[in-house]
Amino acid sequence: MPDNRLYSYAAVLMGSPIQLKLFSSDEALASRVFNLIKKYEDLFTVNRTPSQVMAINHAAGLHPVVVSRPVYELIKCAKAASMLPESAFNLAIGPLVKLWRIGFKGDSVPLAEEIAARLRLTRAQDVVLDDAASSVYLTQPGMEIDLGAIAKGYIADRVRDYLQQQGTFTGLINLGGNVQTLATPQKTWSIGLKKPFGAADELVGTIDVANKSVVTSGIYERWFEQDGKRWHHILDPRTGYPLENELESVTVISADSLDGDIWTTLLFGLGVGKGMRALREHEDIEAIFITKNRDIILSSQRQFRYTHSDDRYRLIDCTV
Ligand code: FAD
Ligand code: MG
Repeated sequence: MPDNRLYSYAAVLMGSPIQLKLFSSDEALASRVFNLIKKYEDLFTVNRTPSQVMAINHAAGLHPVVVSRPVYELIKCAKAASMLPESAFNLAIGPLVKLWRIGFKGDSVPLAEEIAARLRLTRAQDVVLDDAASSVYLTQPGMEIDLGAIAKGYIADRVRDYLQQQGTFTGLINLGGNVQTLATPQKTWSIGLKKPFGAADELVGTIDVANKSVVTSGIYERWFEQDGKRWHHILDPRTGYPLENELESVTVISADSLDGDIWTTLLFGLGVGKGMRALREHEDIEAIFITKNRDIILSSQRQFRYTHSDDRYRLIDCTV
């Protein structure tokens, strides 16, 4: 008899609650998945030494650092996303992330002069890559790579690949904002979209997905309040301050979670109007915008089951 029960395994990694869901009880597989995530966390983290990304940051202005293939490939991809026209994504945002400390102890609004000084250290073109040597060189002392906006996506995709290699074709990994799903026609997944600034279990709606990633970036996850204002963790690489526009969250549905991670940040920077126009040229990327006016805007015909717990949210159909 096939087992239809759902088994849920939890851990805390990358400062985030991690959840693995399987249709068979397999403690050993869950523990191998968590070890895999830990292995990547140890390569990519900028929150403690040693890690390969920290080694690059420590050598800023001094010399290139040879890194392993996954680190090199992810940095190369992050640099390409950073160099796109009008990109809000910037892999060299590290000095500003460290200055603001949003989501970490000691967060406060920095002095304008400090922000201006750090902005000069965030030029993506000053991240120099050498394919043949697999090395990364930050040309200015004080530069820092930060992969916080992209590494979870990469890792979610590696977990999916690993589960498939292990013969597991149904399951879900949630890395806290990054969900990647493995499904069959009989077993699809219903994913809830959190209500921004709502209670932990409050949803604005759900979508059904199969073999897709669902990534959400929002201004409600990591923030602090000062001078009567909320300061959130998605920084505008042009100003050095948290990105300010009409958005509270962007959810991206895509095959790879890496693409979802890049697009949530790109779309955050573009806002609804320009974002919707950009998506017309990328049919493989679907987005759901939630605005401060409580509009829910879908870029595709995907069915969205609206949770009427809070009827101040309105579903706006822009696809017709
Ligand atoms: P996203 O919107 O995807 O990304 C926002 C994050 O990206 C910011 O927190 C910042 O790090 C960075 N960022 C901000 N602005 C930009 C920009 N314009 N362009 C590019 N990047 C930007 N959290 C802890 O509290 N403790 C930990 O020890 C810890 N370790 C981590 C280790 C790893 C390997 C990773 C990937 C994350 C870790 N985190 C940790 C969480 C991390 O600090 C971020 O909060 C998290 O990655 C944000 O992901 P998100 O999907 O919520 O937000
Ligand atoms: Mg992201």
